[in-house]
Amino acid sequence: MTVGIVGAGQLGRMLALAGYPLGLDFLCLDPARDAPAGQVAPLLHGKFTDRALLKRLAQRCEVLTFDWENVPGESLAAVTRAHRARICPPVAALTAAQDRVAEKRLFGKLKIPTTRWQAVDTLAQLTRAIGEIGLPGVLKTRRLGYDGKGQAVVRTALGAARAWQQLGRSGLIYEELVPFDCEVSIIGARSVSGEIAIYPLCGNVHAHGILRVTRAPYGPAQWQRQAAGYLRRVLRHFRYTGILTIEFFVHRGRLLANEMAPRVHNSGHWTIEGAVTSQFENHLRAILDLPLGSTQAVGHSGMVNLIGSIPARTRLLELKGLHLHDYGKKPRPGRKVGHCTLVEASAARRDARTLQVLKDLAGDVSFP
Ligand code: AMP
Repeated sequence: MTVGIVGAGQLGRMLALAGYPLGLDFLCLDPARDAPAGQVAPLLHGKFTDRALLKRLAQRCEVLTFDWENVPGESLAAVTRAHRARICPPVAALTAAQDRVAEKRLFGKLKIPTTRWQAVDTLAQLTRAIGEIGLPGVLKTRRLGYDGKGQAVVRTALGAARAWQQLGRSGLIYEELVPFDCEVSIIGARSVSGEIAIYPLCGNVHAHGILRVTRAPYGPAQWQRQAAGYLRRVLRHFRYTGILTIEFFVHRGRLLANEMAPRVHNSGHWTIEGAVTSQFENHLRAILDLPLGSTQAVGHSGMVNLIGSIPARTRLLELKGLHLHDYGKKPRPGRKVGHCTLVEASAARRDARTLQVLKDLAGDVSFP
């Protein structure tokens, strides 16, 4: 049975690596010849909008999935119409997640709290939004933002004019800057027949807009209940298939949804070693309508992203129990090139060791 992956990044690579033990085959499509998943699975090389290539992918695969949230929804919808390809997760969830305004409206409709926000298309609308929501705030592009790109914090009227200069060429959203206590994410799977399985909550620390550290399980049971309830609403709304992630700010004990990702997620990489079944395996089980695996944690996990370049392997692998994942990418500043995970018997030991890894990597991040 062959699974087609539109996008052959590190997420596609980890999906393939999780699927081989289940007896699955993979075929990827990506514009980059040296894409990480292409190093472990056959690759069709070309654009995500290339209808002929998408047709070949659809004809050779049982089901199509994607590993990047900016794959054009229209191309996927067209391949479904023309070739009856089954695409999981649903294209409707993908297109909602591609537009921050559509995403916030969806959260509103499903009564999932968010920060205050307004859509902004002109400088006059930005001034009005600042008047109503106040300063400080964050101005973001509605589309194609990732890892903190396409956004600017606005603290003053002058800063607003500068942010407009920088971002104003596309549709924008202005949000209140949340003085959050911490950031968390919830990850869960829904299978074709409607079975749902949800992982323990993840606590996330970002640096310069990029995820640096995830710890899981994280936070009190009440946050887990709230987050899982919100995730279930979105899963049911779309009759979703596959893994879905929602990221939240925690502010005065309340969870405010920031964004969702209709795919396996960086904050779930700890599940490879830290849960009974990884998010990658459960994504495949869900889209192939196989029984979902247990999402239970097998210890207390700390995951550290390796950004820019992979540190000396010996230095990392000397650390007892550390699992290294090198995505096979060329080094570049700000690029996620790998991650490492530790699984410990207690949260205190996990935190101490994760901080040590960060220190060893000359990281500029700490956490309480
Ligand atoms: P995003 O691209 O929306 O996930 O933003 C990347 C990171 O920027 C988030 O994980 C937060 O750390 C920070 N951030 C984004 N929006 C806000 C906001 N409205 N208030 C506070 N921090 C934010």
